[in-house]
Amino acid sequence: MLKVDGVSTHIGKIKILHEIYFQVEKGQIVSIIGANGAGKSTLLNTLAGLYRPTSGTITLENEVISGYPANKVVEKGLSLVPEGRQIFTNLTVKENLLLGIFSKYYKEKKLAEENLTKILDMFPGLKKHLKNLGGNLSGGEQQMLAIGRGLMSNPKIILLDEPSMGLAPKIVNEILDTLMIIKEDLGTMVILVEQNVKAALKVCDQAYVIDQGRMIINGTRDEISSNPQVISAYLGIK
Ligand code: ATP
Repeated sequence: MLKVDGVSTHIGKIKILHEIYFQVEKGQIVSIIGANGAGKSTLLNTLAGLYRPTSGTITLENEVISGYPANKVVEKGLSLVPEGRQIFTNLTVKENLLLGIFSKYYKEKKLAEENLTKILDMFPGLKKHLKNLGGNLSGGEQQMLAIGRGLMSNPKIILLDEPSMGLAPKIVNEILDTLMIIKEDLGTMVILVEQNVKAALKVCDQAYVIDQGRMIINGTRDEISSNPQVISAYLGIK
């Protein structure tokens, strides 16, 4: 379980996140939805150890991980697939994937090879591009590569920052299918951050709405999908 308890984050002197509480149970996909600038990326970056919270705690399976540097957070089992994919365009697909397990790679080459095989079985589309440069992939393939790289460290929880951004609806559906496989076959917890609220509500068990750095609404997928405030503000139906 991931538990976020009263987490606040400042960037410089500005308080961006205000006492955030939420949790992800084993076997769940939790979606966090919100408008541009609501604080979604800041929240994921805080969970991933890229920002240090100014108050509150983040606990992953009974260990407090807030305050750990990002590399240690990955080792503890939390992996971030960042906004914009951040693929290394001049490295091959294989090299990009191996970066997901980089610090362990030299010590545990066998584990890296095993994980690589597992990921390529999950993403057959990447297998045929293994020796191609990341920059030569389509947007959808790059997103799959970013997710595959995030899974290389065998995380307990994977965080995805707007994976649907800029992709055609058919590709978005393929990504959502992949998230279901990650949840069901790997048993990995998922946090999905999206401005694409319809997509986010297709696959999640629980959803939270963040607005100006505050969690303002939460509930099950059905509760959030039928919430009048969510419908008028985020689903574009009056
Ligand atoms: P988007 O969908 O556009 O990425 P978001 O919900 O992820 O939006 P954040 O990127 O977390 O939002 O930004 C939340 C707020 O924090 C915004 O008001 C933004 O301007 C501010 N902010 C984010 N990063 C910085 C920074 N490095 N310096 C100053 N302000 C920042």
